[in-house]
Amino acid sequence: MTGDQIREGFLDFFRDRGHTIVPSGPLVPHDDPSLMFANSGMVQFKQVFLGKETRPYVRAADTQKCLRISGKHNDLEQVGRDTYHHTLFEMLGNWSFGDYYKREAISWAWELLTRVWKLDKQRLYATVYTTDDEAEGLWRELTDVGRDRVLRFEKENFWEMGDTGPCGPCSEIHIDRGPGTCDRAGVPGHRCQVNGDCARFIEIWNLVFIQNFRDPSGALSDLPAKHVDTGMGFERVASVLQGVASNYDVDVLRGIITAGERLSQKRYGAVERDDVSLRVIADHARAVTFLVAEGIVPSNEGRGYVLRRLLRRAARHGKLLGLDRPFLFQVVDAVVHGMGRAFPEIVESHARVAEVVQTEEERFAATLDRGLALLEEAVAETRRKKSTTLDGEVAFRLYDTFGFPLDLTEDILAGEGLVVDTQAFERAMGAQRDRARGAQRFVDATAAPEVLVGGGLATRFVGDRVVEWESDVLALLAGGQETRGPVAAGTEVDVVTGETPFYAESGGQIGDRGWLETAGGARVEVTDTQKVAPGVVGHRGVVRQGTLSVGDVVRMKIDVPRREAARLNHSATHLMHAALRRHLGTHVKQAGSLVSPDRLRFDFSHHKAVTKEELRAIEDEVNAHVRANAEVACEEMTYDQAIKAGALAFFGEKYGDRVTVVRMGEFSTELCGGTHVRRTGDIGVFKLRSEGGIAAGVRRIEAATGEGALEEIRRHEETLREVSALLRGAEDEAPAKLEKLLAQQRELERRIADLQGKLAGGAGGSDILAGARKVDGATVLATRVEGLDDKGLRDLADRLRDRIKTGVVVLGAADGDRALLLAAVTKDATDRFHAGNIIKALAPVVGGKGGGRPDLAQAGGKDPARLDEALAQAWVLLGAGGAS
Ligand SMILES: [Zn+2]
Ligand SMILES: [Zn+2]
Repeated sequence: MTGDQIREGFLDFFRDRGHTIVPSGPLVPHDDPSLMFANSGMVQFKQVFLGKETRPYVRAADTQKCLRISGKHNDLEQVGRDTYHHTLFEMLGNWSFGDYYKREAISWAWELLTRVWKLDKQRLYATVYTTDDEAEGLWRELTDVGRDRVLRFEKENFWEMGDTGPCGPCSEIHIDRGPGTCDRAGVPGHRCQVNGDCARFIEIWNLVFIQNFRDPSGALSDLPAKHVDTGMGFERVASVLQGVASNYDVDVLRGIITAGERLSQKRYGAVERDDVSLRVIADHARAVTFLVAEGIVPSNEGRGYVLRRLLRRAARHGKLLGLDRPFLFQVVDAVVHGMGRAFPEIVESHARVAEVVQTEEERFAATLDRGLALLEEAVAETRRKKSTTLDGEVAFRLYDTFGFPLDLTEDILAGEGLVVDTQAFERAMGAQRDRARGAQRFVDATAAPEVLVGGGLATRFVGDRVVEWESDVLALLAGGQETRGPVAAGTEVDVVTGETPFYAESGGQIGDRGWLETAGGARVEVTDTQKVAPGVVGHRGVVRQGTLSVGDVVRMKIDVPRREAARLNHSATHLMHAALRRHLGTHVKQAGSLVSPDRLRFDFSHHKAVTKEELRAIEDEVNAHVRANAEVACEEMTYDQAIKAGALAFFGEKYGDRVTVVRMGEFSTELCGGTHVRRTGDIGVFKLRSEGGIAAGVRRIEAATGEGALEEIRRHEETLREVSALLRGAEDEAPAKLEKLLAQQRELERRIADLQGKLAGGAGGSDILAGARKVDGATVLATRVEGLDDKGLRDLADRLRDRIKTGVVVLGAADGDRALLLAAVTKDATDRFHAGNIIKALAPVVGGKGGGRPDLAQAGGKDPARLDEALAQAWVLLGAGGAS
C-alpha cells in the first residue's frame, strides 16, 4: 500500500460514512496569530469547538500538515538523530461537531484498522480514561479486541486544549511491534508495555471525546454539545501498514532520502553518521518546501527564522555528506514529486520554492566554511582548556557574523561531545540588543519607567478625525526620569495625558507632531508620539515656554498638514498591498512598512525583482482605485468576525479583542489601526519611486502620494529641463542628442588612443626614440610631438621613461595656440638631470613660466612658433648640444 493509497483509503472510509472531506488547513494559521504553526489537526476547527463558529457540516475528515518546532532553539537537535522525530508531519483525522460520539468513533476506528487495513487484532490494544466505563464498555461490546487488551490510564487518557477550555477523556489504540523492537530492553526500571515509552508499543490513533469545559478555577463542567476529534499520525501508521522499520522507510520519506543518496553518492543504511544526515535532509526538505509554499521567506525572526534554521541545518548536513554546492533545492523536487498529489499547493509553487531555497543556500555557503573553520579552532581551544563547554561569545560570533543559528552550533558540537555556554550566548545577544536599543531615539516599551508600566495609566486615542483636544497631564518624564513638575522651559519631556488626538507610531505610520499649551502660558513642542507602555501614549518634545506640571490641563494641537500627508501615504499602502497581491500573487505578504509625510515604504515577500511592466500595472491599478473615489469604511468588530470578513491580518501584529477593519470599496480589506482618508480620491495621485531587494525574498517599494507625488514629478521635469538646456534642444530631443554626443565621445576617445599609440613609437610610425642619443651611458632625447594635450604628453613621457631605463626626455607640443613643454627624468638619473630646472630654463623661450619636481616638470607658453628653438636649447642643456 503506498502512502497515497493509505491517505485516500482513510478519507474514502469516512466519506462513505457521511463525512465531508476538507483540505488541510494552512501551516500558518490564518486566524490565530498567537500560534506559530499548525501543530495538530484541530487547529483549523478550534473556533468550532469553542462555539464561536459553525460549519455547514457536522462530520469532517482530513489530513492536516503540521509542524512542531518552537521559536526557541535546541528542539531541532533530535530530528534525524533518531528515526521517529519529525518537524513536518501529517495528521489524519475524523471529526464530529455535536453529532456522533464514542460509539461510532470506536467502532469505525476498529473497522478501518482491522477489516479494511487488516491489521492483526492480536497486536492491538485499546486504552481508556480511568473512569470512562462507557468507553471500555463500547470497546467490549462493539469490537473483538482481546479481553485483556483494554487498559485504563490516567493522565495519558485525558486531553486538554489548554489550561482552560474544551477538554475530555480520550481512547487510544496502540500496536505491539513485537518483542525484538524494544529499544529499552535492559534499561533498569523499563517495563515493556503499553505507554512504557519504548519503540515496541506505539500509539497509532487517538480518539478524543470532547465533553467538558475547564474554567479558570480549574473546575470542569459539561459542554452543551459533545464532539469527537481524532488524530492518527500518517507517517507512523504508514510505517506499520508498509511493514517497514521506521517512519523514514515509508515510501513518502524514502523517496526523498533516495534523492539525497543520489546527490551525495552515499547509501542509506551503510554508515550511521551518513544516515543521520540523510534523515535530516529528508525531513527538513519537506518542512522547507511547505513553509516556502505558504509565502514564508528566510529571515532573522519569527517563522522566517524557523525556516532559516531548517535550511541551514540541512545545508550543513549536506556538507557532512560531501555536498559542496547548493543541493537542497534539488531535493525539493523529490518532495513535490512524492507529496504533490495530496498537497497541490507545493506543485503550484515548485519553481518559487526551489528559487528561494537555492538563494538561501548560496547566501549561507558564503559564510559556512569560514564559520566552520572558526568553530574548529574554538573546539580545539576548548579541548586544550580541558573544558566541555564552548565559550558563549564564540557561539554568538558564529550567529552574528557567520549566520549560524545557535541550534546549528549545538548540533555540530553534539558530535564532539561539547555544549555551548548558552547563558553567555544570551548575555552577548542581550548586550547587542541593548546597543541597538541605545541607538534608537525612542523610549522602548519594555524599558519604560515604572510609573508608565505599573502606574495604572491609560491614554485614550480620541480618533483620527480629531485634530485638537483638551486633556489632563497624568504623568511627566523629564530627561527620562519621573517627575511631577514644574518642568521648566528648555527641558526634554515625555507627557502622558488621559486622552489624546495625537497618533502614536504603530503599524509603520510615524507618530504625530504638534503643540501642547496650558492656560498658564506653557507651550510644549511635540516632536514625536510613541506608545511608551501598553495603552500609554507619550508625547515627546521640549518645553519651549512656561512650566508644566502633572495635573495641568493642556490644549493639544496636532500638526495637521503633516498628519494629512501621512494619512494619504498610509491609505495608499492599503491599495498598493491589494494591487501587489493581485498582480504578483497571494504569496505577497507585508513584511513591514514605514509611512512618513513625504513618502511611503512597503516591504513584502516576493522572490524576484518586480518587472517594469508589473510595476506599471500596479501603479495604474492603484491610481484607478484612487480615481474611483471609493468610500473608506472603518468598522470595529471582534477579531474573529474580521477574519471571517476576509480581512488581511499579519503574524507578529498584536491584535486585541476588538479590531478595526478598514475597507476601501471592494478592493481592499485589512485590519488596521492607522489613520485613513475618507474616500480613496483624497489620495490624489500615486507615484512609484523605486523597487529593489532588501533581503532574500523580500522586496521594497517606495512611493509618494498627493503633493509628495506632484513634487516627485516636478523634480523629474526640472532635471529633464536642465539636461535639455545643456544639450541646447527640446526635451523630447534630449535622448537622441545625448546618444549622438556619447557616440562622438566614444569615437574621439578611440582616435586619441590610436594617435597616442602611434606617437609612442612602434606601430605604424617611425620610432620617436630613433632620435635619442647617449650621453655618458644615459639616453637623452628632446623632440617635438604633435596632437597631444597635457595629459597625452604625460602619458607619452611615462612610456618613454620606461623604455629608456636611464636618462631624460624633453617633449614639446603645439596645442592650438599654446606651446607645451615637458621634461621627465628616470629616477636613477635625477642626480644628473633636474626636470624642474630644465623646464624653468626652457619655458621663457616659448613665452611661459614653469618648473617642477626633479623627475617631472611641465610648462605652457603662448608662443608655439618658438617650440623648435626651445627644443634646440634642450639638447644643449642635456649635454648633447650643437648637433641636431
Ligand atoms: Zn520495551
Ligand atoms: Zn491602515
